[in-house]
Amino acid sequence: MEHKNIWDKYGMEEEKAIVELCEGYKEYLNHGKTERECITKTVAMAKEHGYRDLQEILAEGKTLKAGDKVYAVNMKKSIALFVIGKKPLEEGMNILGAHVDSPRLDIKQNPLFEDTDFAYLDTHYYGGIKKYQWVASPMSLHGVVVKKDGTVVDICIGEEEGDPVFCITDLLIHLAAEQMAKKASVVIEGEDLNLLVGSRPLKKAGEEEKKEADGQEKKKEEKEHVKAQILAILKEKYGMEEEDFLSAELEVVPAGKARDCGLDRSMVLSYGQDDRICAYTSLKAILETGETERTSCCLLVDKEEIGSVGATGMTSRFFENTVAELLDRLGQYSELSLRRCLSRSRMLSSDVSAGFDPTYASAFEKKNAAFLGRGMSFNKFTGSRGKGGSNDANAEYIARLRRLFDKAGVAFQTAELGKVDVGGGGTIAYILAEYGMEVIDSGLPVLNMHALYEVSSKVDIYEAVRGYKAFLLDGEN
Ligand code: MN
Ligand code: MN
Repeated sequence: MEHKNIWDKYGMEEEKAIVELCEGYKEYLNHGKTERECITKTVAMAKEHGYRDLQEILAEGKTLKAGDKVYAVNMKKSIALFVIGKKPLEEGMNILGAHVDSPRLDIKQNPLFEDTDFAYLDTHYYGGIKKYQWVASPMSLHGVVVKKDGTVVDICIGEEEGDPVFCITDLLIHLAAEQMAKKASVVIEGEDLNLLVGSRPLKKAGEEEKKEADGQEKKKEEKEHVKAQILAILKEKYGMEEEDFLSAELEVVPAGKARDCGLDRSMVLSYGQDDRICAYTSLKAILETGETERTSCCLLVDKEEIGSVGATGMTSRFFENTVAELLDRLGQYSELSLRRCLSRSRMLSSDVSAGFDPTYASAFEKKNAAFLGRGMSFNKFTGSRGKGGSNDANAEYIARLRRLFDKAGVAFQTAELGKVDVGGGGTIAYILAEYGMEVIDSGLPVLNMHALYEVSSKVDIYEAVRGYKAFLLDGEN
């Protein structure tokens, strides 16, 4: 079984469509560097396509019918979009799922400190990272500060031309003999991921002149004058006090935009493609598909990188509750209809796969690896140490998807995440599978997964949207 590079199969028209799609994708990445930003952007796109907020429908006591498009947002960090199908909802849905959180550095709750005339924000990393990758590179700061009175201040520093950026420092090579001999996992330690945010002391009115007149050194009691300057700026620009860090969610991510990669522009290089590459392609598919036989759903969730926990992760009851509300608005609700709807649903649980990298070939088993430029990939299972923790998709379901994708002429490949016993990973697939529905891990291969910048192939993005559309259009129960 040989899967081929698919670049050759496109004519001029499709090549144009690939470029256009990827321009939209890069824009989504640029506007969605945090889970909150992704949801904001997603809602804007959904509204443009005629979707209505389920909360408003509930508040107005309105009902739903086939063809209606609705979305429900959970705590600004996850979202479920639906197009009500012609068939009763209890016959099941076709669900596309992906996650919109990505590995990053979160600012601690008491983060600001000064050391030797530098001001820093202390961080705690989120998700699996190679810490040494996060130093000596321009960083931006995204998120919210929620003040005690409930006012929300949106923060985004380091993305606009002319914005300042931030940095986590590394030790110069000249003095790094000891550091270079360390294991990569401890070359940079978690507690040393301190974001450099300032170096200039606060100037007090009249102080300068007085000092020059006295010809004296700074007084000992004028401590932490660099930190004081940072606090003064935060106060002036964002109206925030130091205590407001307590109720802030600030994320440090690589600064800058998604770029075309390669002289031939065949790839995309960007932060956060895990898993916004699947989120965007799933979203595009549902937005462009319109009314279907079975109800369509696109589920973009948070917290996947830390185990899908919490109110906005996949293990939350949010999704189930939202489906119950839908059934109710359709006049079809009962506990049994809800259970039937969920167990009769089918899902493509999409997340990035490890793209085969010739430089690191020894980590892969080439017959069962995902390759960039060969279409979307299905992982029958993920997990580690003997498939541990994975959703192992049924052969019957995979056969159905083969039929569907072959009929639609969608390029796909099948893969495992690396060689047996080399490592592994998990996704949200097993959580939805608990309802008794058919679920498979699917998605797109990337290089450098979880690094500051990940690499993907433009044709895979294109094939994913085509594949997701074919999946949504499958009207058979
Ligand atoms: Mn992922
Ligand atoms: Mn990941």
